[in-house]
Amino acid sequence: MKTVAFAGIGKMEVREVPDPTPESGQIVVKVEYCGICGSDLHEYHGEGPSMRASGVFQPVMGHEFTGTIAAVGDGAGLREGDPVVVHPGGSCGACFYCTNGLSNVCATQWGTGYMHPGAYAEYCLVKAEMALPLPDASALEKAALSEPLGVALRAINRGGVQPGETVFIAAEALSACSPSSRQPERTPARSSSPSPPNHAESWH
Ligand SMILES: [Zn+2]
Ligand SMILES: [Zn+2]
Repeated sequence: MKTVAFAGIGKMEVREVPDPTPESGQIVVKVEYCGICGSDLHEYHGEGPSMRASGVFQPVMGHEFTGTIAAVGDGAGLREGDPVVVHPGGSCGACFYCTNGLSNVCATQWGTGYMHPGAYAEYCLVKAEMALPLPDASALEKAALSEPLGVALRAINRGGVQPGETVFIAAEALSACSPSSRQPERTPARSSSPSPPNHAESWH
């Protein structure tokens, strides 16, 4: 299959690699749509913080994606041909954090597009539990933005933003901004202290 691989700062190239084969509990997704995340752009431009510097980076990025299931491993419980959106993190599901609703800080992440090859490719191998079924194929395009939407919702919820408030959005990702025809009255924006970085913020 063809992939688009990081080949050095400012350089991407098409590479031919073997098609992935699912093992037990895994599926292969035929990629239909994939976003270009701000963190992918940071890698491309050689800006930090970088997954390359941490030593866990492989060259095929792409973690905001949808597709149809092309192959199913034993016990995966999904069907070939079904449309899915993929959660790129893929936490272990068994550690203290995963069993207490904090899977975003699980130390054993699958890491699609970082530790494992991502969706800048024709096919992408993931764990079955990372795939969320979509109602039908018409949702494939919009659902590719589920991951950045989740990041934005998390930020909004943590910030306690209320309807009618004036806010400043500091974000590079176009997908983090949604248009609105509403014209709220101007009220003072809330101030907030920056939070320390965590795993969750590295997956947007
Ligand atoms: Zn875990
Ligand atoms: Zn992202």
